[in-house]
Amino acid sequence: RMVKRYMACRNDIHRYDAPFMAVYKSLIPAEEELEKQKQLMAQLENLVSKEWPHAKLYLYGSCANSFGFPKSDIDVCLAIEDDGINKSEILLKLANILESNKLQNVQALTRARVPIVKLMDPVTGISCDICINNVLAVVNTKLLRDYARIDVRLRQLAFIVKHWAKSRKVNETYQGTLSSYAYVLMCIHFLQLRRPPILPCLQEMEPTYSVRVDNIRCAYFDKVDRLGNFGSSNRETIAELVWGFFNYWAYAHDYSNTVVSVRTGSILGKREKDWTRRVGNDRHLICIEDPFETSHDLGRVVDKFSIRVLREEFERAAKIMHHDPNPCAKLFEPY
Ligand code: ATP
Ligand code: MG
Repeated sequence: RMVKRYMACRNDIHRYDAPFMAVYKSLIPAEEELEKQKQLMAQLENLVSKEWPHAKLYLYGSCANSFGFPKSDIDVCLAIEDDGINKSEILLKLANILESNKLQNVQALTRARVPIVKLMDPVTGISCDICINNVLAVVNTKLLRDYARIDVRLRQLAFIVKHWAKSRKVNETYQGTLSSYAYVLMCIHFLQLRRPPILPCLQEMEPTYSVRVDNIRCAYFDKVDRLGNFGSSNRETIAELVWGFFNYWAYAHDYSNTVVSVRTGSILGKREKDWTRRVGNDRHLICIEDPFETSHDLGRVVDKFSIRVLREEFERAAKIMHHDPNPCAKLFEPY
């Protein structure tokens, strides 16, 4: 009888594919928006190259990793020769250049954890943050984008999860919940562990792309076109995956002992990472290993209060997926 009920539940779940697909489609940014971003980038490149002919500008974050929502701000990294530069000086100079070229709300935040210049372009209406030499973020942006090219279900799942996290206010690192970057890694990891897998582990394959950033070797297989339809023997649909994702984080994940690792495509023990106790502000209450900066736990922002909030939200979502007659409406109900 259990098996029968389980099967009924799994068959039933397909009723929700269409509504989830509709949500996904409504979150894809329009082509005009991407055009405007390109236009602004071209303008910024032009201004920067006059002052620093050898510098380069890179887009990173959600505007470049294919997990961006409509009307997002764009994140830009200015890559500039590193010997003996003073970041604050460069940011202040950059701010001056931007201001005299009619960009608005220009602000240099030289004392922030990641120093940036903020600006708003009155022509396109786009806001933008520019940082200096944050090359690791450019590289992890490429990794996320390459994973997204392998199977469309990653983008579908990650859009739903991000939309849920934003609606439920659990996408606020300053309040101890997780970044969008962390949620996308959780989705990649979840799809790597499906059986049969929907995503491979690109960092365990023969590297076709390799760069060294601050003594970290970032290498992985990036020729994802050659993978064919990697995940096609797994026929799970978006509603099943959303169900499985929340079920995993609500009931199946071992928060006390394990670490989610996209780098290895597996679950690691906290013991082997030495993440078993609190060190400074890192409490390791939910552990998500950064794929390149492997000593970096993306869950480190989570404290003993916000872990409860997070786990309650995972359970709420799982229950809705299990029992609610209209999960698509309930899941994204504003907190
Ligand atoms: P959103 O749509 O919410 O703005 P986003 O994809 O821009 O999402 P953020 O969490 O704002 O995500 O992060 C922007 C980028 O900065 C990420 O794509 C990643 O490259 C980098 N990043 C963010 N947080 C970290 C972190 N803790 N460690 C390393 N890189 C990070
Ligand atoms: Mg962002």
